[in-house]
Amino acid sequence: MKANYHTHTFRCFHAVGTERDYTGAAVSLGLTTLGFSDHAPFPDKDFGLRMKYEDLPAYLKAADEMKKEYEGRISIFKGLEIEYLPQYNDYYKALRSEYGLDYLLLGEHMYMSGGIIKNIFFAEKTSDYVCYAENVAEAAATGSFCCIAHPDIMMINDLPWDKNCDKASEIIISAAEKYDIPLEMNANGYRRGIHCYSDGERFPYPDERFWKLLCGSDIKVVIGSDCHVPEQVCDGAVSAAEKKCAELKLNLTEQIIG
Ligand SMILES: [Zn+2]
Ligand SMILES: [Zn+2]
Repeated sequence: MKANYHTHTFRCFHAVGTERDYTGAAVSLGLTTLGFSDHAPFPDKDFGLRMKYEDLPAYLKAADEMKKEYEGRISIFKGLEIEYLPQYNDYYKALRSEYGLDYLLLGEHMYMSGGIIKNIFFAEKTSDYVCYAENVAEAAATGSFCCIAHPDIMMINDLPWDKNCDKASEIIISAAEKYDIPLEMNANGYRRGIHCYSDGERFPYPDERFWKLLCGSDIKVVIGSDCHVPEQVCDGAVSAAEKKCAELKLNLTEQIIG
């Protein structure tokens, strides 16, 4: 892997390392592109474990400094990992046009369900996955996001694979195809280790049952390190994702911006 667009920093309160630490690690690990995508703040809402809204200018300034300082050695992009919630459509536009962000990574953890905001980490039933997938598809249609991070993250819940899992996967995969948005195989799921689920021992994500559905298609797949520690920028978890993509003959890309 030469490009990683999924990078966190100390600013989200559950990662360590500054923008400088991650840039240095990326250069020493041989990357040619590094995108910062720390957990985005919302101006009027605090979902916790993410950057404070007032810290956004300092984050962007630090990324700009790295961009300048490392010019010619590594391409730096400044982005955010952010949820799609329809009430923030103007905010997504402003992040690009006013704050000057290079990209937004769709990291749908929170999603709208019947007018309330739910967290996909606490799904109660697999029909929640379908609702989640519909939100992801709606996000893809807005054109605000350049990539769908961890599209199979719902499988972190201990609910056995069923027809709703097929349906949710199909909704997300069709949206990726229709709007030509890459799907991210997220290495951080591998770092979480193998767990004993009621449908067998497996990683919470990436879930092979999801990725197998992409076999033979030309939908773009990107590997995201989702590093929360500088040394994780390109580690064994990233290698595991690379191996899985090769095994399933997925259409890997390393370019998701522009
Ligand atoms: Zn995180
Ligand atoms: Zn992330």
